[in-house]
Amino acid sequence: MFVRPNIYKVECTDGSYVFAIQNQEGVTLIDSHFPGKAEEIDAELTKAGLTPVSRILFTHVDMDHTGNAAFFQRKYGCKVYLSAREFESTTDPVKTKRGKGDPFEKVEKPELTVLEGNEIAGIKVIPAYGHTYGHVCYLFEGVLFAGDLICTENGVIKEMALQYIRDREQSWEAIEKVDEQATFDLLCPSHGEPLACSKITVSEWREGR
Ligand SMILES: [Zn+2]
Repeated sequence: MFVRPNIYKVECTDGSYVFAIQNQEGVTLIDSHFPGKAEEIDAELTKAGLTPVSRILFTHVDMDHTGNAAFFQRKYGCKVYLSAREFESTTDPVKTKRGKGDPFEKVEKPELTVLEGNEIAGIKVIPAYGHTYGHVCYLFEGVLFAGDLICTENGVIKEMALQYIRDREQSWEAIEKVDEQATFDLLCPSHGEPLACSKITVSEWREGR
């Protein structure tokens, strides 16, 4: 469904949402879901008038976000971007999630391009490290694509399950930084439904630690 006239939530990616942004730079996908869903995603995007895909931006390289990027790259010749820090984590075992090893071990690996500067195709890149070594959020026209910085459940913002967070303290700092730096009125996490709000609060999580 369209959450804004030019921003689409890909329904068949429930569980780890893919979002599509349409502007004068073409169609940009935020993440690409678990492997094995490429044709279904492509069909839904086409039905919504959102193909060809011009580029894919990864919030991070966990497999529920990277799974179908290689398919879209093959089909549309699009570039697949990630942060410089996240790129480091694809080759340096120390920087992967808890030494989990190559994040593309079980996923077809697209050719990766490192993001430069703090904006691409009119979309702002906001560093938000912690969930992974180089996790980032994206901001476009007041919509914050939060990736796995947080999630939502039943209309409430929640912390991701602790076993999925690489560095919890760093992640908390990132949340505060995003609140300072980003002006938004719609929060679109990967896990959970979009939520109309303008702040991500963490004080209760910190108090409860
Ligand atoms: Zn995820």
